[in-house]
Amino acid sequence: MKIVTILGARPQFIKASVVSNALKHAGIDEILIHTGQHFDSLMSDIFFQDLALPVPHHHLNIHSLNHGAMTGRMMEKIEELLLEQELPDWVCVYGDTNSTLAGALVAAKLHIPLAHIEAGLRSFNRQMPEEVNRVVTDHLAQLLLVPTPLAVQCLQKEGVSQGVHLVGDVMMDAILTYKQKAKQTSDILAKYQLRPEKFYLATIHRPSNTDEQYRLSAIIESLATLDYPVVFPMHPRTTAQIQAMDLERYFALNSIIAIPPVSYLDILMLESFCKAVITDSGGIQKEAYILGRPCFTMRDETEWKETVEVGWNHLVQPETLHSAIANFTPPTEAPTLYGNGDAATQIAELFLASS
Ligand code: UDP
Repeated sequence: MKIVTILGARPQFIKASVVSNALKHAGIDEILIHTGQHFDSLMSDIFFQDLALPVPHHHLNIHSLNHGAMTGRMMEKIEELLLEQELPDWVCVYGDTNSTLAGALVAAKLHIPLAHIEAGLRSFNRQMPEEVNRVVTDHLAQLLLVPTPLAVQCLQKEGVSQGVHLVGDVMMDAILTYKQKAKQTSDILAKYQLRPEKFYLATIHRPSNTDEQYRLSAIIESLATLDYPVVFPMHPRTTAQIQAMDLERYFALNSIIAIPPVSYLDILMLESFCKAVITDSGGIQKEAYILGRPCFTMRDETEWKETVEVGWNHLVQPETLHSAIANFTPPTEAPTLYGNGDAATQIAELFLASS
């Protein structure tokens, strides 16, 4: 059996690292197409170096374009590769980026079965480009590999029940796979002289938080005035906006430690030892939960509602961040929400069973 996996963004490299390994163990041939959506070394190469992820067979080098141009050019190249070179049995896509959508549309048009890993997630906010990508991809997929029971329900409500499999979250697998290696090899805590629970970790990169000056400056001001230093690995979009809006003055206060994006092994250490996480990332909300840290999500809604329901994740605004942190009491329980760390193995078995 031959699967073509299409990926292009940081969280997809992390997820693929565990799934590609499971596919290899199951004897399945996998061809990786890297669209190039995330292209700089700290957003892409570093993950191929640190995680057991094979070098992509094809690199499309498509990035830094508006949504239509980016998705369209990706589709053109992917179609060419699938038709003329690879002729796969399945196309596999992850999550909710333009690379996901491009791969899904091409597979559907060429009548190649499509598998979607991390299917069924919904924020119910169609202003988010990711939400549009998720909905379309789920409705085109034949194999929907779903991380949570809530995501199964979301699909059912949209009439999608064929091919839906609750397998758990591959990010749980990734944490279990790399946590020990992170402890052994990462020097990030020493590098920035960070003491356990005496710093916060912040990541902010969603357009709804970065694209308006009033919003981004309010967020940064709320971070700069917390009771402990804030380690802030900055996504390239956020760095560009901070420079364009001249907000770097906040970093002179020393309470924000603004650093380039870090490796997966480094972020696992930051997430494990911080006092709390402040983020608008999807993946980091889950990782904070799995690693037992409180999370304050700078958004109006989240796809990962279970973390909010169990009390470990709070939706905040810049104005409410300080009070939410001050009033936080750790819940007594942290039930298993994201599976047992065998999602990737189950996915490989489902591919084999479908052949
Ligand atoms: N991540 C990382 N280095 C960083 C920031 C994030 O390795 O500097 C990882 C993070 O641990 C998670 C994934 O990237 O596994 C999340 O990616 P991101 O926040 O870019 O995307 P989202 O999950 O919101 O789609």
